Amino acid sequence: MKTALITGGTKGIGKAIALAFLQQGYEVVLNYDSDEAAALAAQEEFNMMGYCPLLLRADVSDEKQVVDMFRDFFSIYGKIDVLVNNAGISQINVFQDTTPEEWDRIFGVNVKGAYLCCREVVDKMIGRGGSIINISSIWGEVGASCEVAYSASKGAVIAFTKALAKELAPSKVRVNCVSPGVIDTGMNAHLSSAEMDELINQIPLGRLGRPEEVAKACIYLAENAYVTGEVLSVGGGFAK
Ligand code: NAP
Repeated sequence: MKTALITGGTKGIGKAIALAFLQQGYEVVLNYDSDEAAALAAQEEFNMMGYCPLLLRADVSDEKQVVDMFRDFFSIYGKIDVLVNNAGISQINVFQDTTPEEWDRIFGVNVKGAYLCCREVVDKMIGRGGSIINISSIWGEVGASCEVAYSASKGAVIAFTKALAKELAPSKVRVNCVSPGVIDTGMNAHLSSAEMDELINQIPLGRLGRPEEVAKACIYLAENAYVTGEVLSVGGGFAK
Protein backbone atom coordinates (compact mmCIF):
# COMPACT_ATOMS: atom_id res chain seq x y z
CA MET A 1 0.00 0.00 0.00
CA LYS A 2 1.21 3.52 -0.80
CA THR A 3 2.07 5.83 2.09
CA ALA A 4 1.65 9.59 2.50
CA LEU A 5 2.57 12.07 5.21
CA ILE A 6 0.69 15.37 5.26
CA THR A 7 2.17 18.11 7.41
CA GLY A 8 -0.51 20.22 9.08
CA GLY A 9 -2.91 17.43 8.14
CA THR A 10 -5.42 17.96 10.91
CA LYS A 11 -7.16 21.15 9.82
CA GLY A 12 -8.32 23.07 6.77
CA ILE A 13 -6.55 22.28 3.52
CA GLY A 14 -4.27 19.63 5.03
CA LYS A 15 -7.21 17.71 6.46
CA ALA A 16 -8.94 17.71 3.05
CA ILE A 17 -5.69 16.52 1.42
CA ALA A 18 -5.46 13.74 4.00
CA LEU A 19 -9.01 12.61 3.26
CA ALA A 20 -8.36 12.61 -0.48
CA PHE A 21 -5.31 10.34 -0.06
CA LEU A 22 -7.23 8.06 2.32
CA GLN A 23 -9.97 7.77 -0.32
CA GLN A 24 -7.30 6.82 -2.86
CA GLY A 25 -6.27 3.92 -0.61
CA TYR A 26 -3.08 5.39 0.86
CA GLU A 27 -1.83 4.78 4.40
CA VAL A 28 -1.86 8.36 5.70
CA VAL A 29 -0.03 10.05 8.57
CA LEU A 30 -1.34 13.38 9.82
CA ASN A 31 1.27 15.69 11.25
CA TYR A 32 0.23 18.55 13.52
CA ASP A 33 1.94 20.87 15.98
CA SER A 34 0.11 22.80 18.68
CA ASP A 35 -3.56 21.78 18.64
CA GLU A 36 -3.79 18.21 19.95
CA ALA A 37 -7.55 18.45 20.51
CA ALA A 38 -8.13 19.30 16.85
CA ALA A 39 -5.75 16.51 15.81
CA LEU A 40 -7.62 13.92 17.90
CA ALA A 41 -10.96 15.22 16.59
CA ALA A 42 -9.74 14.91 12.99
CA GLN A 43 -8.49 11.39 13.62
CA GLU A 44 -11.82 10.46 15.21
CA GLU A 45 -13.71 11.95 12.24
CA PHE A 46 -11.65 9.82 9.84
CA ASN A 47 -12.15 6.74 12.03
CA MET A 48 -15.93 7.26 11.80
CA MET A 49 -15.55 7.15 7.99
CA GLY A 50 -13.69 3.84 8.26
CA TYR A 51 -10.15 5.20 7.84
CA CYS A 52 -7.30 4.82 10.34
CA PRO A 53 -4.70 7.55 9.82
CA LEU A 54 -1.89 7.88 12.37
CA LEU A 55 -1.07 11.15 14.12
CA LEU A 56 2.52 12.33 14.54
CA ARG A 57 3.24 15.59 16.35
CA ALA A 58 6.18 17.75 15.31
CA ASP A 59 6.89 21.42 14.79
CA VAL A 60 8.16 21.27 11.21
CA SER A 61 10.51 24.20 11.85
CA ASP A 62 12.37 22.21 14.54
CA GLU A 63 15.08 19.92 13.13
CA LYS A 64 15.08 17.43 15.98
CA GLN A 65 11.29 17.10 16.03
CA VAL A 66 11.23 16.52 12.27
CA VAL A 67 14.00 13.91 12.45
CA ASP A 68 12.14 12.11 15.27
CA MET A 69 8.84 12.24 13.38
CA PHE A 70 10.30 10.61 10.27
CA ARG A 71 12.21 8.06 12.37
CA ASP A 72 8.83 7.03 13.80
CA PHE A 73 7.22 7.11 10.35
CA PHE A 74 9.87 4.88 8.76
CA SER A 75 9.91 2.50 11.72
CA ILE A 76 6.22 1.85 10.98
CA TYR A 77 6.06 1.99 7.17
CA GLY A 78 9.65 1.63 5.96
CA LYS A 79 8.97 3.74 2.85
CA ILE A 80 7.20 6.90 1.75
CA ASP A 81 5.45 7.52 -1.56
CA VAL A 82 4.06 11.04 -1.04
CA LEU A 83 5.08 13.94 1.19
CA VAL A 84 2.80 16.98 1.27
CA ASN A 85 4.43 20.01 2.86
CA ASN A 86 1.21 21.78 3.78
CA ALA A 87 1.90 23.13 7.31
CA GLY A 88 2.01 26.88 7.15
CA ILE A 89 1.37 30.06 9.09
CA SER A 90 0.44 33.53 7.94
CA GLN A 91 0.60 36.94 9.46
CA ILE A 92 -0.94 40.24 8.47
CA ASN A 93 0.86 43.42 9.43
CA VAL A 94 2.43 46.51 7.96
CA PHE A 95 5.94 45.78 6.65
CA GLN A 96 7.66 48.17 9.10
CA ASP A 97 5.94 46.43 12.01
CA THR A 98 7.24 42.99 11.06
CA THR A 99 9.87 42.01 13.61
CA PRO A 100 12.90 39.84 12.81
CA GLU A 101 11.41 37.21 15.14
CA GLU A 102 8.14 37.17 13.17
CA TRP A 103 10.07 36.99 9.90
CA ASP A 104 12.12 34.03 11.15
CA ARG A 105 9.03 32.24 12.46
CA ILE A 106 7.19 32.54 9.12
CA PHE A 107 10.23 31.41 7.13
CA GLY A 108 10.96 28.75 9.77
CA VAL A 109 7.60 27.05 9.31
CA ASN A 110 6.81 27.79 5.66
CA VAL A 111 10.27 27.36 4.09
CA LYS A 112 12.64 25.65 6.52
CA GLY A 113 9.83 23.25 7.45
CA ALA A 114 9.56 22.10 3.84
CA TYR A 115 13.35 21.81 3.58
CA LEU A 116 13.63 19.75 6.80
CA CYS A 117 10.84 17.37 5.80
CA CYS A 118 12.21 16.92 2.27
CA ARG A 119 15.67 16.22 3.70
CA GLU A 120 14.26 13.29 5.69
CA VAL A 121 12.44 11.65 2.76
CA VAL A 122 14.64 12.22 -0.29
CA ASP A 123 17.10 9.37 0.37
CA LYS A 124 14.17 7.00 0.89
CA MET A 125 12.57 8.09 -2.40
CA ILE A 126 15.67 8.13 -4.63
CA GLY A 127 15.62 5.23 -7.03
CA ARG A 128 12.23 3.79 -6.09
CA GLY A 129 10.47 7.07 -6.87
CA GLY A 130 8.25 9.41 -4.90
CA SER A 131 6.23 12.58 -5.04
CA ILE A 132 6.76 15.73 -3.00
CA ILE A 133 4.02 18.36 -3.07
CA ASN A 134 4.61 21.76 -1.53
CA ILE A 135 1.70 24.07 -0.73
CA SER A 136 2.56 27.62 -1.73
CA SER A 137 0.02 30.43 -2.19
CA ILE A 138 -1.23 32.81 -4.84
CA TRP A 139 0.42 35.51 -2.69
CA GLY A 140 3.76 33.85 -3.36
CA GLU A 141 3.15 34.52 -7.05
CA VAL A 142 1.65 38.01 -7.01
CA GLY A 143 2.49 39.39 -3.53
CA ALA A 144 -0.01 40.63 -0.97
CA SER A 145 0.02 44.03 0.69
CA CYS A 146 0.53 43.73 4.46
CA GLU A 147 1.67 40.12 4.03
CA VAL A 148 5.23 40.70 2.83
CA ALA A 149 6.87 38.02 4.97
CA TYR A 150 4.18 35.46 4.10
CA SER A 151 4.31 36.31 0.37
CA ALA A 152 8.12 36.12 0.36
CA SER A 153 8.06 32.76 2.13
CA LYS A 154 5.55 31.34 -0.34
CA GLY A 155 7.58 32.68 -3.27
CA ALA A 156 10.55 30.86 -1.77
CA VAL A 157 8.51 27.65 -1.68
CA ILE A 158 7.94 27.99 -5.45
CA ALA A 159 11.66 28.48 -6.20
CA PHE A 160 12.53 25.64 -3.80
CA THR A 161 10.10 23.38 -5.67
CA LYS A 162 11.47 24.19 -9.12
CA ALA A 163 15.12 23.76 -8.09
CA LEU A 164 14.57 20.51 -6.19
CA ALA A 165 12.47 19.13 -9.05
CA LYS A 166 15.39 19.59 -11.45
CA GLU A 167 17.87 18.05 -9.02
CA LEU A 168 15.74 14.98 -8.23
CA ALA A 169 14.13 14.24 -11.60
CA PRO A 170 16.96 11.90 -12.68
CA SER A 171 16.34 9.95 -9.44
CA LYS A 172 12.60 9.48 -10.23
CA VAL A 173 11.51 11.82 -7.46
CA ARG A 174 8.97 14.42 -8.58
CA VAL A 175 8.53 17.75 -6.81
CA ASN A 176 5.55 19.98 -7.50
CA CYS A 177 3.71 22.85 -5.95
CA VAL A 178 0.07 23.79 -5.49
CA SER A 179 -0.69 27.48 -5.28
CA PRO A 180 -4.10 27.97 -3.68
CA GLY A 181 -6.02 31.22 -3.96
CA VAL A 182 -8.28 32.27 -1.11
CA ILE A 183 -9.58 29.07 0.47
CA ASP A 184 -12.30 28.83 3.09
CA THR A 185 -10.34 27.74 6.19
CA GLY A 186 -9.50 28.95 9.68
CA MET A 187 -6.46 30.76 8.25
CA ASN A 188 -8.81 33.44 6.90
CA ALA A 189 -11.09 33.56 9.95
CA HIS A 190 -9.59 36.86 11.09
CA LEU A 191 -10.83 38.69 7.97
CA SER A 192 -13.90 40.89 8.36
CA SER A 193 -16.85 40.29 6.04
CA ALA A 194 -15.99 43.55 4.22
CA GLU A 195 -12.40 42.36 3.67
CA MET A 196 -13.69 38.99 2.52
CA ASP A 197 -16.10 40.63 0.03
CA GLU A 198 -13.25 42.72 -1.33
CA LEU A 199 -11.17 39.58 -1.87
CA ILE A 200 -14.05 37.71 -3.49
CA ASN A 201 -14.53 40.62 -5.89
CA GLN A 202 -11.02 39.94 -7.22
CA ILE A 203 -11.76 36.27 -7.93
CA PRO A 204 -13.15 35.68 -11.44
CA LEU A 205 -15.10 32.59 -10.29
CA GLY A 206 -16.74 34.81 -7.66
CA ARG A 207 -16.30 32.65 -4.56
CA LEU A 208 -13.77 31.28 -2.11
CA GLY A 209 -12.10 27.99 -2.92
CA ARG A 210 -12.84 24.84 -0.94
CA PRO A 211 -10.12 22.76 0.76
CA GLU A 212 -11.17 19.68 -1.23
CA GLU A 213 -10.51 21.57 -4.47
CA VAL A 214 -6.88 21.99 -3.39
CA ALA A 215 -6.83 18.32 -2.40
CA LYS A 216 -7.87 17.25 -5.91
CA ALA A 217 -4.85 19.11 -7.32
CA CYS A 218 -2.59 17.19 -4.91
CA ILE A 219 -3.98 13.84 -6.06
CA TYR A 220 -3.37 14.83 -9.69
CA LEU A 221 0.24 15.77 -8.93
CA ALA A 222 0.85 12.63 -6.87
CA GLU A 223 -0.54 10.28 -9.49
CA ASN A 224 0.75 11.80 -12.76
CA ALA A 225 4.23 10.35 -13.28
CA TYR A 226 5.15 12.80 -16.05
CA VAL A 227 4.64 16.05 -14.13
CA THR A 228 7.43 17.68 -12.13
CA GLY A 229 8.56 21.21 -11.31
CA GLU A 230 5.04 22.57 -11.82
CA VAL A 231 3.14 25.25 -9.93
CA LEU A 232 -0.53 24.38 -10.17
CA SER A 233 -2.78 27.31 -9.25
CA VAL A 234 -6.12 26.56 -7.61
CA GLY A 235 -7.35 30.10 -7.32
CA GLY A 236 -10.63 30.54 -9.16
CA GLY A 237 -8.82 32.40 -11.94
CA PHE A 238 -7.34 34.99 -9.56
CA ALA A 239 -5.63 37.56 -11.79
CA LYS A 240 -1.85 37.27 -11.74
P1 NAP B 1 -4.96 26.23 8.90
O1 NAP B 1 -6.41 25.91 8.81
O2 NAP B 1 -4.49 27.32 9.78
O3 NAP B 1 -4.18 24.86 9.29
C1 NAP B 1 -2.79 24.89 9.44
C2 NAP B 1 -2.28 23.51 9.78
O4 NAP B 1 -0.85 23.59 9.84
C3 NAP B 1 -2.74 23.00 11.13
O5 NAP B 1 -2.95 21.60 11.06
C4 NAP B 1 -1.55 23.30 12.05
O6 NAP B 1 -1.45 22.39 13.15
C5 NAP B 1 -0.40 23.09 11.09
N1 NAP B 1 0.81 23.78 11.50
C6 NAP B 1 1.00 25.11 11.72
N2 NAP B 1 2.25 25.35 12.12
C7 NAP B 1 2.87 24.13 12.17
C8 NAP B 1 4.17 23.71 12.51
N3 NAP B 1 5.11 24.59 12.92
N4 NAP B 1 4.47 22.39 12.43
C9 NAP B 1 3.52 21.50 12.04
N5 NAP B 1 2.27 21.84 11.71
C10 NAP B 1 1.95 23.15 11.77
O7 NAP B 1 -4.35 26.59 7.47
P2 NAP B 1 -4.89 26.28 5.98
O8 NAP B 1 -5.69 27.43 5.52
O9 NAP B 1 -5.45 24.91 5.92
O10 NAP B 1 -3.49 26.35 5.20
C11 NAP B 1 -2.75 25.20 4.87
C12 NAP B 1 -1.64 25.60 3.90
O11 NAP B 1 -2.22 26.22 2.74
C13 NAP B 1 -0.66 26.63 4.48
O12 NAP B 1 0.64 26.34 4.02
C14 NAP B 1 -1.16 27.93 3.89
O13 NAP B 1 -0.13 28.89 3.82
C15 NAP B 1 -1.62 27.48 2.53
N6 NAP B 1 -2.59 28.38 1.90
C16 NAP B 1 -3.78 28.66 2.50
C17 NAP B 1 -4.68 29.51 1.85
C18 NAP B 1 -6.01 29.86 2.44
O14 NAP B 1 -6.67 30.77 1.91
N7 NAP B 1 -6.48 29.20 3.47
C19 NAP B 1 -4.34 30.07 0.61
C20 NAP B 1 -3.12 29.77 0.05
C21 NAP B 1 -2.24 28.91 0.69
P3 NAP B 1 -1.68 22.91 14.68
O15 NAP B 1 -2.93 23.73 14.66
O16 NAP B 1 -1.77 21.64 15.46
O17 NAP B 1 -0.44 23.72 15.05
